[in-house]
Amino acid sequence: MTTPPPRTLALPYPWQQPHWQRLLQWQAQGKLPHALMLSGQGGIGKAHFARAAAQYLLCSAPRSGLACGSCRACELNLAGSHPDLLWVQPQEAGKAVKVDQIRELADFVAKTAQQGGMKLAVIAPAEAMNVNAANALLKSLEEPAGDTLLILVSHSAGRVMATLRSRCQLLALPTPSPEQALPWLSQLVSGEDPRALLQYAGGAPLAALELLEGDLLERRAEFLAGLVGVAQGQVSALEAAAASMKAEPLKLLDWLLGWLQLGARQLAGIAAQGEAEGEQLQALFSGVQPGHLYRYLDKVILAKGQLLSGANPNKQLLLEELFMDWSALLRSRAAARQSQRNGLT
Ligand SMILES: [Zn+2]
Repeated sequence: MTTPPPRTLALPYPWQQPHWQRLLQWQAQGKLPHALMLSGQGGIGKAHFARAAAQYLLCSAPRSGLACGSCRACELNLAGSHPDLLWVQPQEAGKAVKVDQIRELADFVAKTAQQGGMKLAVIAPAEAMNVNAANALLKSLEEPAGDTLLILVSHSAGRVMATLRSRCQLLALPTPSPEQALPWLSQLVSGEDPRALLQYAGGAPLAALELLEGDLLERRAEFLAGLVGVAQGQVSALEAAAASMKAEPLKLLDWLLGWLQLGARQLAGIAAQGEAEGEQLQALFSGVQPGHLYRYLDKVILAKGQLLSGANPNKQLLLEELFMDWSALLRSRAAARQSQRNGLT
């Protein structure tokens, strides 16, 4: 997720406390790494943690393990203009981080801090770096960077070049339990059931909140209706794909992954009672061969990986393929039922 310049100081979320304490400990012991990778599911607040860390580490008078909010450094951070913080992200959502942006980062690292403290550079998400960008970053990591902390934020650490990953201290941020996430989410949500939103978002609280922006819930319902329609033979894969064109592909893949994972849990007999959309999905997945479902899941994960690494596939073709494979998955269910019936007679 991209983050606009903050209006208020970023404070670590309640579920990030143990990791925040670890950061404070590293700093207190003079053991801050030169490169830190924050990994974890999308929508749990990794970029927010990076922002909070930057503000804290740049603050000249931190109090109780948090930035003070009133020193010169904090003022600059609140204005989004601290000269010793560089935030690198794709110029457009879903696009690649380019080598020019990493060259700019290398220049930033080579300069002395303007405010006399340390410098921070954040790359979010790190897997959006194309190969040239990742190689350029590797080169700049090889040279000592003085008092600079580089933070790589990653929803998919496995997609970041291994040689880069191995140079970073890893901090795996958790997806909170519903018990941790719901009190936070409930304060910010009105008119929708926070528990259902959290489930729609695969347990990621910020992604749950984001569902309320614009028409995402509507787009999501449309997409699910398309999957159900194809399953019931009411619409063709191509029609369903055309009806889902309004949504962002990455969102669609995330939703689909959530449903498929729920389906996989149902097939394994471990789905929790009362899961949002659970019944609707139960009807869809019943009779699907787990092996077929996992093959489809792999395809969707692959497509998501390609999108995250800045590939720019033809959206219509991507959707048509997803729906056609979905249709094939469900036909395999019908075939399995048929052969079961034949076996019985
Ligand atoms: Zn301060």
